[in-house]
Amino acid sequence: MGTEASVRGAAGPDTEVLDLSGKTVVPGFIDAHNHLSVAAFAPDSVDCSTPPLTSLDEVLEVIERHCRTVPPGQWVRGMNFHASHVREQRNPTRYELDEVAPHNPFFLIDASCHAGFANSAALDQVGISAHTPDPWGGEIERDTRGAPTGTLLEAAANLLHSASWNDYADRDWDRAVEMLRSKMHDYLAVGLTAVGDAMVTAKSAELYRRADAAGKMPFTLQQLHGGDHFFSMQDLGRSDIVDRIMEPESFLLRGGAMKIFVDRAYPSPAIDQIHDGCKTHVGANFYSKDEVHHLAVQASKLGINLAIHGMGNCAIDIVLDAYEAVRRQSNAETVLRLEHAFIAETGQGQRMADLGVDLVANPGLAYGWGEVFDMWRGEKQNHLKLFPVRSMIDAGVRVSLASDHPCGTYSPAEIMWTAVARETLAGAPLEPDEAVTPEEALRMYTIDPAQASGRGSEEGSIEVGKRANLLVLDRDPLTCPTGQLRDMQVLRTYVDGVLRYERTPS
Ligand SMILES: [Zn+2]
Repeated sequence: MGTEASVRGAAGPDTEVLDLSGKTVVPGFIDAHNHLSVAAFAPDSVDCSTPPLTSLDEVLEVIERHCRTVPPGQWVRGMNFHASHVREQRNPTRYELDEVAPHNPFFLIDASCHAGFANSAALDQVGISAHTPDPWGGEIERDTRGAPTGTLLEAAANLLHSASWNDYADRDWDRAVEMLRSKMHDYLAVGLTAVGDAMVTAKSAELYRRADAAGKMPFTLQQLHGGDHFFSMQDLGRSDIVDRIMEPESFLLRGGAMKIFVDRAYPSPAIDQIHDGCKTHVGANFYSKDEVHHLAVQASKLGINLAIHGMGNCAIDIVLDAYEAVRRQSNAETVLRLEHAFIAETGQGQRMADLGVDLVANPGLAYGWGEVFDMWRGEKQNHLKLFPVRSMIDAGVRVSLASDHPCGTYSPAEIMWTAVARETLAGAPLEPDEAVTPEEALRMYTIDPAQASGRGSEEGSIEVGKRANLLVLDRDPLTCPTGQLRDMQVLRTYVDGVLRYERTPS
Protein backbone atom coordinates (compact mmCIF):
# COMPACT_ATOMS: atom_id res chain seq x y z
CA MET A 1 0.00 0.00 0.00
CA GLY A 2 1.11 3.54 -0.63
CA THR A 3 2.43 5.55 -3.56
CA GLU A 4 3.50 3.68 -6.68
CA ALA A 5 7.14 4.53 -5.96
CA SER A 6 7.05 3.20 -2.41
CA VAL A 7 5.22 0.03 -3.41
CA ARG A 8 7.58 -0.66 -6.29
CA GLY A 9 10.47 -0.01 -3.91
CA ALA A 10 9.16 -2.68 -1.55
CA ALA A 11 8.91 -5.32 -4.29
CA GLY A 12 11.60 -7.99 -4.32
CA PRO A 13 12.80 -10.08 -7.26
CA ASP A 14 10.16 -12.78 -6.62
CA THR A 15 7.25 -10.38 -6.18
CA GLU A 16 4.36 -11.01 -8.52
CA VAL A 17 3.41 -7.73 -10.19
CA LEU A 18 -0.12 -7.53 -11.47
CA ASP A 19 -1.18 -4.71 -13.77
CA LEU A 20 -4.92 -4.25 -13.31
CA SER A 21 -5.01 -1.67 -16.11
CA GLY A 22 -7.34 0.69 -14.33
CA LYS A 23 -9.66 -1.83 -12.69
CA THR A 24 -11.03 -1.11 -9.23
CA VAL A 25 -9.78 -2.72 -6.02
CA VAL A 26 -11.98 -2.74 -2.90
CA PRO A 27 -11.92 -4.61 0.42
CA GLY A 28 -13.58 -8.05 0.38
CA PHE A 29 -17.32 -8.00 1.02
CA ILE A 30 -18.67 -9.30 4.34
CA ASP A 31 -22.18 -10.73 4.60
CA ALA A 32 -22.87 -10.57 8.33
CA HIS A 33 -26.27 -12.26 8.18
CA ASN A 34 -26.60 -15.23 5.88
CA HIS A 35 -27.98 -18.74 6.36
CA LEU A 36 -25.12 -20.62 4.75
CA SER A 37 -25.87 -23.87 6.58
CA VAL A 38 -29.41 -23.84 5.16
CA ALA A 39 -28.38 -22.72 1.68
CA ALA A 40 -25.56 -25.28 1.44
CA PHE A 41 -28.00 -28.15 0.92
CA ALA A 42 -29.88 -26.40 -1.87
CA PRO A 43 -28.33 -28.54 -4.63
CA ASP A 44 -29.89 -31.68 -3.09
CA SER A 45 -33.20 -29.91 -2.39
CA VAL A 46 -36.07 -29.18 -4.75
CA ASP A 47 -35.76 -25.68 -6.14
CA CYS A 48 -39.30 -24.34 -5.71
CA SER A 49 -38.32 -20.71 -6.32
CA THR A 50 -41.21 -18.39 -7.05
CA PRO A 51 -40.36 -16.75 -9.44
CA PRO A 52 -39.45 -18.28 -11.90
CA LEU A 53 -42.25 -20.73 -10.96
CA THR A 54 -45.58 -18.90 -11.06
CA SER A 55 -48.20 -21.46 -9.99
CA LEU A 56 -48.71 -24.06 -7.31
CA ASP A 57 -49.20 -26.67 -10.05
CA GLU A 58 -45.71 -25.97 -11.39
CA VAL A 59 -44.27 -26.17 -7.87
CA LEU A 60 -45.96 -29.54 -7.25
CA GLU A 61 -44.71 -30.79 -10.58
CA VAL A 62 -41.04 -30.05 -9.83
CA ILE A 63 -41.43 -31.70 -6.43
CA GLU A 64 -42.86 -34.82 -8.04
CA ARG A 65 -40.10 -34.96 -10.64
CA HIS A 66 -37.39 -34.64 -7.97
CA CYS A 67 -38.90 -37.13 -5.53
CA ARG A 68 -39.07 -39.83 -8.20
CA THR A 69 -35.25 -39.85 -8.18
CA VAL A 70 -34.85 -40.17 -4.40
CA PRO A 71 -34.71 -43.51 -2.52
CA PRO A 72 -37.94 -44.18 -0.59
CA GLY A 73 -37.88 -43.05 3.03
CA GLN A 74 -35.18 -40.43 2.56
CA TRP A 75 -36.03 -36.87 3.62
CA VAL A 76 -36.47 -34.30 0.87
CA ARG A 77 -36.50 -30.54 1.32
CA GLY A 78 -37.98 -27.95 -1.01
CA MET A 79 -36.87 -24.34 -0.88
CA ASN A 80 -37.81 -20.76 -1.76
CA PHE A 81 -41.56 -21.10 -2.23
CA HIS A 82 -43.84 -18.21 -1.36
CA ALA A 83 -47.62 -18.16 -1.72
CA SER A 84 -47.73 -14.44 -2.57
CA HIS A 85 -45.79 -15.17 -5.76
CA VAL A 86 -48.02 -17.95 -7.16
CA ARG A 87 -51.26 -17.57 -9.08
CA GLU A 88 -53.29 -19.55 -6.50
CA GLN A 89 -52.11 -17.28 -3.63
CA ARG A 90 -52.02 -20.17 -1.16
CA ASN A 91 -49.75 -22.80 0.34
CA PRO A 92 -49.84 -26.47 -0.69
CA THR A 93 -51.71 -28.85 1.63
CA ARG A 94 -50.22 -32.01 3.11
CA TYR A 95 -52.52 -34.05 0.85
CA GLU A 96 -51.23 -32.36 -2.30
CA LEU A 97 -47.68 -33.00 -1.07
CA ASP A 98 -48.60 -36.65 -0.30
CA GLU A 99 -49.55 -37.08 -3.94
CA VAL A 100 -46.31 -35.72 -5.36
CA ALA A 101 -44.03 -37.18 -2.66
CA PRO A 102 -45.72 -40.50 -1.83
CA HIS A 103 -42.62 -42.37 -0.64
CA ASN A 104 -40.61 -39.69 1.17
CA PRO A 105 -40.98 -37.41 4.15
CA PHE A 106 -41.12 -34.04 2.38
CA PHE A 107 -40.74 -30.56 3.86
CA LEU A 108 -41.17 -27.39 1.79
CA ILE A 109 -39.52 -24.41 3.47
CA ASP A 110 -41.26 -21.09 2.92
CA ALA A 111 -38.98 -18.46 1.36
CA SER A 112 -39.17 -16.52 4.63
CA CYS A 113 -37.88 -19.60 6.53
CA HIS A 114 -40.58 -18.73 9.10
CA ALA A 115 -43.05 -21.36 7.89
CA GLY A 116 -42.97 -24.76 6.25
CA PHE A 117 -45.30 -27.22 4.56
CA ALA A 118 -45.05 -30.93 5.31
CA ASN A 119 -46.57 -34.06 3.83
CA SER A 120 -48.11 -36.75 6.02
CA ALA A 121 -44.96 -38.89 6.13
CA ALA A 122 -42.95 -35.93 7.40
CA LEU A 123 -45.53 -35.12 10.09
CA ASP A 124 -45.55 -38.80 11.14
CA GLN A 125 -41.77 -38.93 11.40
CA VAL A 126 -41.61 -36.05 13.86
CA GLY A 127 -44.76 -37.15 15.69
CA ILE A 128 -47.06 -34.24 14.83
CA SER A 129 -50.69 -35.39 14.92
CA ALA A 130 -54.15 -33.99 15.69
CA HIS A 131 -53.32 -34.41 19.39
CA THR A 132 -50.06 -32.44 19.33
CA PRO A 133 -50.44 -29.12 21.12
CA ASP A 134 -48.98 -25.95 19.58
CA PRO A 135 -45.40 -25.57 20.77
CA TRP A 136 -43.84 -22.45 22.31
CA GLY A 137 -43.35 -19.86 19.59
CA GLY A 138 -45.33 -21.55 16.85
CA GLU A 139 -48.61 -22.86 15.51
CA ILE A 140 -49.67 -26.06 13.84
CA GLU A 141 -52.37 -25.02 11.36
CA ARG A 142 -55.41 -27.31 11.59
CA ASP A 143 -58.52 -28.02 9.54
CA THR A 144 -62.05 -27.85 10.97
CA ARG A 145 -61.70 -31.36 12.42
CA GLY A 146 -58.44 -30.45 14.16
CA ALA A 147 -56.15 -32.39 11.81
CA PRO A 148 -52.86 -30.66 10.86
CA THR A 149 -53.09 -29.17 7.35
CA GLY A 150 -49.34 -29.52 6.85
CA THR A 151 -48.67 -25.80 7.35
CA LEU A 152 -46.39 -25.13 10.31
CA LEU A 153 -45.66 -21.62 11.49
CA GLU A 154 -42.47 -20.47 13.16
CA ALA A 155 -41.26 -22.79 15.96
CA ALA A 156 -43.86 -25.41 14.98
CA ALA A 157 -41.60 -26.05 11.97
CA ASN A 158 -38.57 -26.64 14.24
CA LEU A 159 -38.74 -30.42 14.31
CA LEU A 160 -39.12 -30.59 10.52
CA HIS A 161 -36.27 -28.14 9.93
CA SER A 162 -34.05 -30.25 12.18
CA ALA A 163 -35.14 -33.74 11.07
CA SER A 164 -34.69 -32.91 7.37
CA TRP A 165 -31.42 -30.96 7.83
CA ASN A 166 -29.95 -33.63 10.10
CA ASP A 167 -30.86 -36.34 7.61
CA TYR A 168 -28.96 -34.50 4.85
CA ALA A 169 -25.91 -34.17 7.12
CA ASP A 170 -25.95 -37.60 8.78
CA ARG A 171 -26.45 -39.39 5.47
CA ASP A 172 -22.92 -38.50 4.39
CA TRP A 173 -20.86 -35.99 6.36
CA ASP A 174 -18.12 -35.80 3.74
CA ARG A 175 -20.66 -34.90 1.12
CA ALA A 176 -22.22 -32.33 3.47
CA VAL A 177 -18.81 -30.71 3.98
CA GLU A 178 -18.28 -30.73 0.23
CA MET A 179 -21.62 -29.00 -0.35
CA LEU A 180 -20.69 -26.37 2.22
CA ARG A 181 -17.34 -25.81 0.53
CA SER A 182 -19.02 -25.53 -2.84
CA LYS A 183 -21.49 -22.93 -1.58
CA MET A 184 -18.63 -20.94 -0.05
CA HIS A 185 -16.95 -21.02 -3.45
CA ASP A 186 -20.11 -19.54 -4.99
CA TYR A 187 -19.84 -16.77 -2.41
CA LEU A 188 -16.20 -16.08 -3.33
CA ALA A 189 -17.31 -15.57 -6.92
CA VAL A 190 -19.50 -12.62 -5.90
CA GLY A 191 -16.77 -11.15 -3.69
CA LEU A 192 -17.68 -12.43 -0.24
CA THR A 193 -14.59 -12.97 1.91
CA ALA A 194 -16.44 -13.50 5.21
CA VAL A 195 -19.91 -14.60 6.22
CA GLY A 196 -21.95 -14.74 9.42
CA ASP A 197 -24.30 -17.71 9.75
CA ALA A 198 -27.30 -16.24 11.52
CA MET A 199 -28.62 -19.47 13.05
CA VAL A 200 -26.19 -22.17 14.14
CA THR A 201 -27.49 -25.19 16.04
CA ALA A 202 -25.40 -27.94 17.65
CA LYS A 203 -25.64 -29.91 14.43
CA SER A 204 -24.67 -27.10 12.05
CA ALA A 205 -21.80 -26.20 14.41
CA GLU A 206 -20.61 -29.76 13.87
CA LEU A 207 -20.68 -29.24 10.10
CA TYR A 208 -18.55 -26.09 10.43
CA ARG A 209 -16.12 -27.83 12.79
CA ARG A 210 -15.69 -30.68 10.35
CA ALA A 211 -15.25 -28.32 7.37
CA ASP A 212 -12.69 -26.23 9.24
CA ALA A 213 -10.75 -29.30 10.43
CA ALA A 214 -10.67 -30.63 6.85
CA GLY A 215 -9.30 -27.31 5.56
CA LYS A 216 -12.42 -26.81 3.42
CA MET A 217 -13.26 -23.28 4.56
CA PRO A 218 -11.85 -20.63 2.20
CA PHE A 219 -12.79 -17.66 4.40
CA THR A 220 -13.91 -16.59 7.86
CA LEU A 221 -17.24 -17.84 9.12
CA GLN A 222 -18.84 -16.30 12.18
CA GLN A 223 -21.33 -18.49 13.96
CA LEU A 224 -24.32 -16.79 15.57
CA HIS A 225 -25.37 -19.58 17.88
CA GLY A 226 -28.96 -20.50 18.62
CA GLY A 227 -30.63 -23.21 20.68
CA ASP A 228 -31.48 -26.81 19.77
CA HIS A 229 -33.58 -25.99 16.72
CA PHE A 230 -34.00 -23.06 14.34
CA PHE A 231 -36.47 -21.10 16.50
CA SER A 232 -35.88 -22.78 19.87
CA MET A 233 -36.07 -20.81 23.06
CA GLN A 234 -32.53 -19.90 24.01
CA ASP A 235 -31.38 -21.18 27.40
CA LEU A 236 -28.10 -19.85 28.81
CA GLY A 237 -28.63 -21.89 31.96
CA ARG A 238 -27.57 -24.91 29.91
CA SER A 239 -23.85 -25.51 29.96
CA ASP A 240 -23.81 -27.36 26.63
CA ILE A 241 -25.19 -24.28 24.86
CA VAL A 242 -22.85 -21.85 26.64
CA ASP A 243 -19.92 -24.19 25.90
CA ARG A 244 -20.85 -24.25 22.21
CA ILE A 245 -21.07 -20.45 22.02
CA MET A 246 -17.78 -20.00 23.92
CA GLU A 247 -15.89 -22.79 22.14
CA PRO A 248 -12.30 -21.72 21.34
CA GLU A 249 -12.11 -20.14 17.92
CA SER A 250 -9.87 -21.04 15.03
CA PHE A 251 -8.57 -18.45 12.58
CA LEU A 252 -11.41 -19.08 10.14
CA LEU A 253 -14.16 -20.36 12.42
CA ARG A 254 -15.39 -17.81 14.91
CA GLY A 255 -17.99 -17.92 17.65
CA GLY A 256 -18.70 -16.00 20.83
CA ALA A 257 -22.02 -14.68 19.56
CA MET A 258 -25.63 -15.58 20.17
CA LYS A 259 -28.75 -15.10 18.07
CA ILE A 260 -32.32 -14.93 19.23
CA PHE A 261 -35.55 -14.14 17.42
CA VAL A 262 -37.81 -11.62 19.11
CA ASP A 263 -40.67 -11.27 16.64
CA ARG A 264 -42.20 -13.62 14.13
CA ALA A 265 -42.60 -13.11 10.41
CA TYR A 266 -45.75 -11.21 9.68
CA PRO A 267 -48.49 -12.01 9.21
CA SER A 268 -48.44 -14.72 11.79
CA PRO A 269 -50.70 -13.58 13.25
CA ALA A 270 -51.86 -10.59 11.23
CA ILE A 271 -50.58 -7.29 12.50
CA ASP A 272 -53.93 -5.91 13.60
CA GLN A 273 -54.56 -8.82 15.94
CA ILE A 274 -51.49 -8.64 18.04
CA HIS A 275 -49.75 -6.84 20.84
CA ASP A 276 -52.68 -6.58 23.22
CA GLY A 277 -54.84 -4.76 20.74
CA CYS A 278 -52.15 -2.23 19.88
CA LYS A 279 -52.73 -0.97 16.34
CA THR A 280 -49.64 1.14 15.88
CA HIS A 281 -47.04 -1.56 16.32
CA VAL A 282 -46.34 -4.62 14.21
CA GLY A 283 -44.95 -8.06 14.96
CA ALA A 284 -45.93 -10.81 17.41
CA ASN A 285 -43.26 -12.01 19.77
CA PHE A 286 -41.49 -15.19 20.71
CA TYR A 287 -40.29 -13.83 24.05
CA SER A 288 -41.77 -11.44 26.54
CA LYS A 289 -40.03 -8.14 27.13
CA ASP A 290 -38.63 -9.43 30.44
CA GLU A 291 -37.27 -12.59 28.88
CA VAL A 292 -35.38 -10.65 26.20
CA HIS A 293 -34.02 -8.30 28.85
CA HIS A 294 -32.87 -11.18 31.02
CA LEU A 295 -31.28 -13.13 28.16
CA ALA A 296 -29.40 -10.11 26.82
CA VAL A 297 -27.95 -9.12 30.19
CA GLN A 298 -27.07 -12.72 31.01
CA ALA A 299 -25.28 -13.14 27.65
CA SER A 300 -23.36 -9.91 27.97
CA LYS A 301 -22.16 -10.84 31.47
CA LEU A 302 -20.78 -14.06 29.99
CA GLY A 303 -18.93 -12.02 27.36
CA ILE A 304 -21.21 -13.17 24.56
CA ASN A 305 -21.93 -10.78 21.68
CA LEU A 306 -25.55 -10.42 20.68
CA ALA A 307 -27.48 -10.46 17.43
CA ILE A 308 -31.20 -10.10 18.02
CA HIS A 309 -33.76 -10.44 15.29
CA GLY A 310 -36.37 -7.68 15.39
CA MET A 311 -38.39 -7.05 12.24
CA GLY A 312 -41.20 -4.76 13.35
CA ASN A 313 -41.06 -1.59 15.42
CA CYS A 314 -42.59 -3.29 18.44
CA ALA A 315 -39.80 -5.86 18.58
CA ILE A 316 -37.23 -3.14 17.96
CA ASP A 317 -38.42 -1.31 21.10
CA ILE A 318 -38.08 -4.53 23.10
CA VAL A 319 -34.57 -5.14 21.76
CA LEU A 320 -33.48 -1.57 22.48
CA ASP A 321 -34.89 -1.73 26.02
CA ALA A 322 -32.83 -4.87 26.60
CA TYR A 323 -29.72 -3.29 25.08
CA GLU A 324 -30.13 -0.24 27.27
CA ALA A 325 -30.01 -2.56 30.28
CA VAL A 326 -26.91 -4.27 28.89
CA ARG A 327 -25.09 -0.97 28.44
CA ARG A 328 -26.12 0.10 31.93
CA GLN A 329 -25.38 -3.09 33.80
CA SER A 330 -22.53 -4.88 32.16
CA ASN A 331 -19.87 -5.13 29.54
CA ALA A 332 -19.55 -1.97 27.48
CA GLU A 333 -17.52 -3.90 24.90
CA THR A 334 -20.31 -6.28 23.92
CA VAL A 335 -21.25 -6.06 20.25
CA LEU A 336 -24.99 -5.40 20.20
CA ARG A 337 -26.65 -6.07 16.88
CA LEU A 338 -30.19 -5.58 15.74
CA GLU A 339 -31.00 -7.79 12.76
CA HIS A 340 -33.48 -6.60 10.10
CA ALA A 341 -35.60 -3.61 11.32
CA PHE A 342 -37.74 -4.14 8.22
CA ILE A 343 -40.62 -1.98 9.44
CA ALA A 344 -39.38 0.67 11.83
CA GLU A 345 -40.06 4.15 13.06
CA THR A 346 -37.37 6.54 11.97
CA GLY A 347 -37.16 7.85 15.56
CA GLN A 348 -35.84 4.47 16.69
CA GLY A 349 -32.59 5.26 14.90
CA GLN A 350 -31.57 7.92 17.41
CA ARG A 351 -31.91 5.48 20.27
CA MET A 352 -29.93 2.85 18.38
CA ALA A 353 -27.15 5.34 17.71
CA ASP A 354 -27.04 6.45 21.36
CA LEU A 355 -26.71 2.84 22.54
CA GLY A 356 -24.04 1.97 19.99
CA VAL A 357 -26.20 -0.69 18.35
CA ASP A 358 -25.16 -2.05 14.96
CA LEU A 359 -28.06 -2.42 12.55
CA VAL A 360 -27.69 -5.34 10.16
CA ALA A 361 -30.25 -4.52 7.47
CA ASN A 362 -31.51 -6.35 4.40
CA PRO A 363 -32.81 -3.75 1.94
CA GLY A 364 -31.97 -6.25 -0.81
CA LEU A 365 -35.15 -8.08 0.20
CA ALA A 366 -37.11 -5.03 -1.00
CA TYR A 367 -36.52 -6.26 -4.54
CA GLY A 368 -38.49 -9.52 -4.24
CA TRP A 369 -40.65 -8.64 -1.23
CA GLY A 370 -41.24 -4.89 -1.26
CA GLU A 371 -44.96 -5.14 -2.04
CA VAL A 372 -45.43 -7.90 0.53
CA PHE A 373 -43.80 -5.83 3.27
CA ASP A 374 -45.89 -2.86 2.23
CA MET A 375 -48.99 -4.98 2.74
CA TRP A 376 -47.70 -6.24 6.11
CA ARG A 377 -47.10 -2.70 7.26
CA GLY A 378 -50.85 -2.21 7.09
CA GLU A 379 -52.93 0.78 6.18
CA LYS A 380 -52.63 4.15 7.86
CA GLN A 381 -49.32 3.17 9.40
CA ASN A 382 -47.50 6.14 7.98
CA HIS A 383 -45.21 6.39 10.99
CA LEU A 384 -43.63 3.12 9.84
CA LYS A 385 -40.94 3.02 7.16
CA LEU A 386 -39.95 -0.01 5.08
CA PHE A 387 -36.27 -1.00 5.11
CA PRO A 388 -35.32 2.41 6.56
CA VAL A 389 -31.61 2.58 5.86
CA ARG A 390 -31.17 6.25 4.96
CA SER A 391 -32.92 7.52 8.09
CA MET A 392 -30.89 5.13 10.28
CA ILE A 393 -27.60 6.34 8.81
CA ASP A 394 -28.71 9.95 9.20
CA ALA A 395 -29.48 9.25 12.86
CA GLY A 396 -25.88 8.09 13.29
CA VAL A 397 -26.43 4.32 13.29
CA ARG A 398 -23.71 2.10 11.85
CA VAL A 399 -25.59 0.02 9.29
CA SER A 400 -24.38 -3.14 7.56
CA LEU A 401 -25.96 -4.65 4.47
CA ALA A 402 -26.59 -8.39 4.61
CA SER A 403 -28.37 -10.87 2.36
CA ASP A 404 -30.35 -13.13 4.72
CA HIS A 405 -29.82 -15.67 1.92
CA PRO A 406 -31.63 -17.94 1.00
CA CYS A 407 -34.48 -15.51 1.81
CA GLY A 408 -33.04 -13.33 -0.99
CA THR A 409 -30.07 -13.18 -3.35
CA TYR A 410 -26.57 -13.43 -1.87
CA SER A 411 -25.04 -11.16 -4.51
CA PRO A 412 -23.60 -7.99 -2.93
CA ALA A 413 -23.81 -6.20 -6.30
CA GLU A 414 -27.56 -6.84 -6.52
CA ILE A 415 -28.15 -5.92 -2.89
CA MET A 416 -26.07 -2.73 -3.14
CA TRP A 417 -28.05 -1.84 -6.26
CA THR A 418 -31.39 -2.36 -4.47
CA ALA A 419 -30.20 -0.23 -1.53
CA VAL A 420 -29.26 2.56 -3.96
CA ALA A 421 -32.09 2.22 -6.50
CA ARG A 422 -34.91 1.14 -4.12
CA GLU A 423 -36.73 -0.68 -6.89
CA THR A 424 -38.85 -3.84 -6.66
CA LEU A 425 -39.13 -6.80 -9.00
CA ALA A 426 -42.24 -5.19 -10.48
CA GLY A 427 -40.17 -2.09 -11.27
CA ALA A 428 -41.94 0.05 -8.67
CA PRO A 429 -40.05 2.45 -6.40
CA LEU A 430 -40.10 1.51 -2.71
CA GLU A 431 -39.70 4.50 -0.39
CA PRO A 432 -36.97 6.06 -2.51
CA ASP A 433 -36.17 8.60 0.22
CA GLU A 434 -34.57 5.68 2.09
CA ALA A 435 -31.98 5.19 -0.66
CA VAL A 436 -28.26 5.26 0.14
CA THR A 437 -25.32 6.42 -1.97
CA PRO A 438 -23.02 3.89 -3.67
CA GLU A 439 -20.24 4.96 -1.30
CA GLU A 440 -22.42 4.22 1.72
CA ALA A 441 -23.42 0.89 0.19
CA LEU A 442 -19.74 -0.03 -0.19
CA ARG A 443 -19.00 0.84 3.45
CA MET A 444 -22.05 -1.17 4.48
CA TYR A 445 -20.60 -4.25 2.79
CA THR A 446 -17.03 -3.85 4.09
CA ILE A 447 -15.94 -1.89 7.17
CA ASP A 448 -19.37 -1.66 8.83
CA PRO A 449 -20.08 -5.43 8.85
CA ALA A 450 -16.46 -6.02 9.92
CA GLN A 451 -17.26 -3.97 13.05
CA ALA A 452 -20.64 -5.65 13.51
CA SER A 453 -18.86 -9.01 13.37
CA GLY A 454 -16.30 -7.96 15.99
CA ARG A 455 -13.45 -8.00 13.44
CA GLY A 456 -13.09 -4.31 12.68
CA SER A 457 -9.40 -4.38 13.56
CA GLU A 458 -8.57 -7.20 11.15
CA GLU A 459 -10.63 -6.67 7.99
CA GLY A 460 -13.15 -4.49 6.18
CA SER A 461 -10.69 -1.93 4.84
CA ILE A 462 -7.43 -1.87 2.92
CA GLU A 463 -4.91 -0.85 5.54
CA VAL A 464 -1.43 -1.79 6.62
CA GLY A 465 -1.71 -4.52 9.25
CA LYS A 466 -5.08 -5.81 8.14
CA ARG A 467 -5.77 -9.09 6.37
CA ALA A 468 -5.37 -8.85 2.60
CA ASN A 469 -8.98 -9.56 1.73
CA LEU A 470 -9.27 -7.81 -1.62
CA LEU A 471 -11.47 -7.78 -4.69
CA VAL A 472 -10.77 -6.71 -8.23
CA LEU A 473 -13.96 -5.35 -9.79
CA ASP A 474 -14.73 -4.81 -13.45
CA ARG A 475 -16.09 -1.32 -12.74
CA ASP A 476 -15.97 1.36 -10.09
CA PRO A 477 -19.14 1.03 -8.00
CA LEU A 478 -18.82 4.66 -6.88
CA THR A 479 -18.88 6.17 -10.36
CA CYS A 480 -20.71 3.72 -12.62
CA PRO A 481 -24.35 4.56 -13.51
CA THR A 482 -26.77 3.20 -10.88
CA GLY A 483 -28.33 0.78 -13.34
CA GLN A 484 -24.95 -0.84 -13.97
CA LEU A 485 -24.11 -1.38 -10.30
CA ARG A 486 -26.29 -4.47 -10.30
CA ASP A 487 -24.24 -6.14 -13.04
CA MET A 488 -20.90 -5.42 -11.42
CA GLN A 489 -18.61 -8.44 -11.78
CA VAL A 490 -15.94 -9.63 -9.43
CA LEU A 491 -12.82 -10.49 -11.45
CA ARG A 492 -10.62 -11.69 -8.61
CA THR A 493 -11.15 -12.50 -4.95
CA TYR A 494 -8.21 -12.63 -2.56
CA VAL A 495 -8.53 -13.93 0.99
CA ASP A 496 -5.54 -13.37 3.26
CA GLY A 497 -3.50 -12.57 0.18
CA VAL A 498 -4.35 -15.84 -1.56
CA LEU A 499 -6.18 -15.75 -4.90
CA ARG A 500 -9.30 -17.80 -4.17
CA TYR A 501 -11.40 -16.95 -7.20
CA GLU A 502 -10.66 -15.67 -10.67
CA ARG A 503 -13.35 -15.01 -13.22
CA THR A 504 -12.73 -16.84 -16.46
CA PRO A 505 -12.99 -14.41 -19.40
CA SER A 506 -16.14 -15.09 -21.39
ZN1 LIG B 1 -31.95 -14.51 8.84
